[in-house]
Amino acid sequence: MGKLLNAECSCGYKTTVAVGSGREQYGTVFEFPHLCTNCDETVTADLLQAQVTCPLCSGIDLKIYGTKEHDGAKKKSWFQRLFAGSDEPVSTLVSQYCYNIETTFEIEDRGHFCPKCKEQTLKFSVDAMFD
Ligand SMILES: [Zn+2]
Ligand SMILES: [Zn+2]
Repeated sequence: MGKLLNAECSCGYKTTVAVGSGREQYGTVFEFPHLCTNCDETVTADLLQAQVTCPLCSGIDLKIYGTKEHDGAKKKSWFQRLFAGSDEPVSTLVSQYCYNIETTFEIEDRGHFCPKCKEQTLKFSVDAMFD
């Protein structure tokens, strides 16, 4: 099951990105929003490609949005968490597990980097599910 997300910034930038994959592509495609620093766009890129590329410019200067945590990774200790910054827990907008690479990808419900105005004001919201 995949999700379609709206990405919208206060500067007027707006786009749609995808997370996960539909049933037919399950296991062969895992899409997730990325920032392309080559063409300055928020794009959807397939993490299961040998080389993750931008669908617009075919560049490889992509930065993934959100966080990823490998299954085998150690959880942060209370000590690290204490100094991680904010006291207010940020809710998770999207959490998607990719079994191919045993990693959970998450997008927090807060402002993210906008490729147009370069501020942390790009907000994602879930638009629809697809399969
Ligand atoms: Zn690009
Ligand atoms: Zn913006």
